[in-house]
Amino acid sequence: MKICVCAKQVPDTNEVKIDPVKGTLIRTGVPSILNPDDANALEAALCLKDKYPDTKVYVVSMGPAQADYMLRECLAMGADEAVLLSDRAFGGADTCATSVSIAAGIKKIGDFDIIFGGRQAIDGDTAQVGPQVAHRLGIPVITYVEAIEEVSDKKIRVRRQLEDGYELIETALPCFLTCVKELNTPRYMSVAGIMDAYEKEITVYGREDLALTPEECGLKASPTRVFKSFTPPPKGKGEMLSGTVNEMAAELTDRLRKAHLI
Ligand SMILES: Cc1cc2nc3c(=O)[nH]c(=O)nc-3n(C[C@H](O)[C@H](O)[C@H](O)COP(=O)(O)OP(=O)(O)OC[C@H]3O[C@@H](n4cnc5c(N)ncnc54)[C@H](O)[C@@H]3O)c2cc1C
Repeated sequence: MKICVCAKQVPDTNEVKIDPVKGTLIRTGVPSILNPDDANALEAALCLKDKYPDTKVYVVSMGPAQADYMLRECLAMGADEAVLLSDRAFGGADTCATSVSIAAGIKKIGDFDIIFGGRQAIDGDTAQVGPQVAHRLGIPVITYVEAIEEVSDKKIRVRRQLEDGYELIETALPCFLTCVKELNTPRYMSVAGIMDAYEKEITVYGREDLALTPEECGLKASPTRVFKSFTPPPKGKGEMLSGTVNEMAAELTDRLRKAHLI
């Protein structure tokens, strides 16, 4: 089996704080990590490799040269090959342009049986890239995968997470699966894996390697633009209601109703 995992390097948003005086985001010193859902995606691929040892796992990322570090972590966890899609022309991409470059990268590497991605990235937070890549590759996509029930060389059956239950879905291979954290617990890098990861070459493809024109990637190919970004205002002070318990409950429900919260 040949498996591809789409992995994005993201700032650890748990470490991003708001400057209480300026009201801006403090990004200095914020570490970059493998996007958490992508760690679950990689773990799912590695579990299949454990089960079917002739499986080869590729990890593909689009990003700047620093994403190399995150890709080596993936290799140290057990991935076989890492490919970095990196070019100035890819900068400023929205999800549409991102999916064009990632799909072109995957096509260049070859045919895959399963492509895994995370449900969403913790920085962009759109959950759009996986389905868009699948669309561009012309293969079925199942999102929110919380369990893999059965895999054969022709099809796969998975559980798709819903708010109040799950769906059991079967699809033919090749397919794209986006993974949620309930799917598994990602393994740690092994010591031998870390040593090997630094010996391995990471293949880097730029725009020309992917046969994309400058108009087909990055900002130029992005139908959307972020024209303003800002830090949300801090929450206002709390307010104590007064009166009897019944009066306070009535006042509270009244305010929640007016705010369309109930
Ligand atoms: C309207 C809009 C405008 C934007 N404009 C800009 C801009 O001008 N400049 C800018 O720098 N960014 C911009 N972005 C952010 C950029 O689009 C996203 O970082 C990128 O497209 C990925 O989307 P996401 O983070 O929401 O990923 P999601 O769709 O939430 O990610 C889902 C999964 O897709 C895969 N994936 C996503 N991105 C990658 C990747 N790079 N490599 C490998 N796998 C990946 C991962 O498996 C991930 O778990 C914009 C986003 C939006 C919504």
